Amino acid sequence: MGVPNVALSVGPRAESPEYHRIPAREAAMKIADWSCSLVEVPTHSRLDTSYGSAEAVRPHVIARLVDDSGRVGLGEASPLPFFTGETAASIKLQLEQLFLPALVGRDPRDHDEIMAVLDHLLPENRSAKCAVDMALYDLRGHVLGQPVYHQLGGLRRPDGFRVTRAIGLLSLEETVRMAEHWVERGFHTLKLKIGPDPDGDVERIRAVRRAVPSDVRLRIDANGGYDVPTAVRVLGALADAVEYCEQPIPPWDLAGLHQIRAATGVRITVDESVHTLRDLLRVVEARAADALVIKLIKCGGLRAAEHLAAVAGAVGMPVVVVSPFETHVGAAAGVHLALTLRPSPFAQELSIFTVEPRGPHTASAIQTNGDRILPPTAPGLGVTFE
Ligand SMILES: [Mg+2]
Repeated sequence: MGVPNVALSVGPRAESPEYHRIPAREAAMKIADWSCSLVEVPTHSRLDTSYGSAEAVRPHVIARLVDDSGRVGLGEASPLPFFTGETAASIKLQLEQLFLPALVGRDPRDHDEIMAVLDHLLPENRSAKCAVDMALYDLRGHVLGQPVYHQLGGLRRPDGFRVTRAIGLLSLEETVRMAEHWVERGFHTLKLKIGPDPDGDVERIRAVRRAVPSDVRLRIDANGGYDVPTAVRVLGALADAVEYCEQPIPPWDLAGLHQIRAATGVRITVDESVHTLRDLLRVVEARAADALVIKLIKCGGLRAAEHLAAVAGAVGMPVVVVSPFETHVGAAAGVHLALTLRPSPFAQELSIFTVEPRGPHTASAIQTNGDRILPPTAPGLGVTFE
């Protein structure tokens, strides 16, 4: 029997007229220039944690990529030294001396190749790499005239998503007052820092639970401040009061996280425990968590975040995108990522747009409604920086 003569449909043939209507790769699209600046911005709210008191002024590193048509892409790295070991000074140094010069002459569409070049130049340093990753997405967004979420998985939350407001370590009275304040401002989820005073933590969270309506969700974050027996005791006492507890114990103790989950039934969210895909695979294997916090400066940007979200999605683990003290530039990148995620019951932590629509250096096209962030339609990240 002969092979059937099947016409394969593989698109227009090279000699057909349609072939010549397919846009050629723009030969001229190159990164032509870059700049990098360190700005210091007063923090918009006090947020003391298990790591200590928050600074009154925080540094942000802003990278700019310019293509050969003069279009600009913005990226941000706001350091979290306790998380990544990088400071604003070290981020700026690596960007200026290694990463940004290596981009000149490259096509900004070659994303994975560019990130591989950076990894070859210097391992780790994911906050500095995050600024490059973000600037590439923003630049391509301006070239395409499309919001960045179209370069990611596409818009899965056309109605936007809710955000939570964080409250740092305060006295019981101040904590209750702040919780009531943010609920009056329209927030449906509050995040409360805990850690240094376990018995006081139980009292504070219980007091907030009594003070706010029962449909307001509370989540707590110890930033690794407890040990396993303390976490079991505290979470056991708060099991009916909170939607989850983030990073109750130090990041390396995955067996301990599993033990706390099993003993208390309280959902555990990992933050400090997961920077890379390898970290997440270990967490999944250890059955150490129910949900995952993604911070772009931990994982190295939007592309790495997509990989984390894909693995989390494959095991049914909701993702919460958190903006750690970023300006509107970095927080906007988080918004675009969050808009592409499968809807989940958990609010995202990207509240800057709801309480501070403009920053001292930034203007944003991102609109809000109460505690809800709406999908932007402006090209790129939708943020300008002066
Ligand atoms: Mg956290």
